[in-house]
Amino acid sequence: MNLLNGKETAAQIRQEIAQKVKDHTEKGGKTPHLAAIIVGSDPASETYVSHKVKACNEVGINSSVIKFDDDATEQEVLEKVEEINENSDIDGLIVQLPLPGHISESKIIETVRYQKDVDGFHPVNVGRMFSGLPSFLPATPYGIMELLRRYKIETSGKHCVIVGRSNIVGKPVAMLMSRKGEPGNSTVTICHSRTSNLEEICRSGDIIIAAMGSPGFVKQNMVKEGAVVIDVGITRVKSDKTKSGWKLAGDVDFDAVAPKCSFITPVPGGVGPMTIVSLLENTLRATAKEIYS
Ligand code: NDP
Repeated sequence: MNLLNGKETAAQIRQEIAQKVKDHTEKGGKTPHLAAIIVGSDPASETYVSHKVKACNEVGINSSVIKFDDDATEQEVLEKVEEINENSDIDGLIVQLPLPGHISESKIIETVRYQKDVDGFHPVNVGRMFSGLPSFLPATPYGIMELLRRYKIETSGKHCVIVGRSNIVGKPVAMLMSRKGEPGNSTVTICHSRTSNLEEICRSGDIIIAAMGSPGFVKQNMVKEGAVVIDVGITRVKSDKTKSGWKLAGDVDFDAVAPKCSFITPVPGGVGPMTIVSLLENTLRATAKEIYS
């Protein structure tokens, strides 16, 4: 079994991005600037945003965090998005999800100017990705593809089973794994909560991507010998072994599954750090106007 070490790979990519930012500014380009809007005080969301800010600092990208209380109105958030759309110093904008129930996520996502949509959630970016046109790729699927690429995992002609069909992970990663290209060229099956023979389908997967949010769901008997397993899941679970009283758990029963795998990502230290560097990469691309002029 080999570990797909997202933490190490992401550290390497951060160095590369820092160099690219330096080259860009030395040539007279502007310093990239990422803005993040966060609504409410969900501890997980606050942690994710603080990790993103820290990563920006490390590579020389400026960042701003705009914080709203839980009871902020949809109109207030929309107005802020529009203000940032018009602010030429800000190159990339993310709105941390989930938003409180009274705010329409799709309305907010569609209001972000697609040229600044470094999360890759705007329908223009989603549509362009599906059409094989240059676009901002959503950070988690982008990070997974980069991890596969850097570890030279063969994906062509392989059966890739994806468990989860969300707009931010399952569906886009299915698209990228099945596209013409390397990594890509896989034959993809998407599973979800209504899939009737999920265990059997998983067993036929050369590559399994678990993105459900159900700790330890993928068991040893669901994975074939030599499979590549990518665990996207991050759930806070209680633990008596940590000072905080909780730990992060993935969707894969790691200890039981790992011995059967050719490659597997750990949680934490797998997909999570790759997601953050993909966001940095997108922000730099937005600043350099690599995708939209
Ligand atoms: P969603 O809740 O949006 O989607 C979960 C998907 O899993 C749904 O399609 C759901 O099916 C499916 N699912 C849930 N339970 C089962 C089950 N028992 N059997 C089969 N399918 C099931 O989650 P996200 O895609 O946003 O996130 C998934 C996980 O990945 C979470 O733990 C999240 O925290 C983590 N995550 C990690 C990131 C990282 O950087 N590492 C980034 C983003 C997310 P249905 O559609 O039928 O309801």
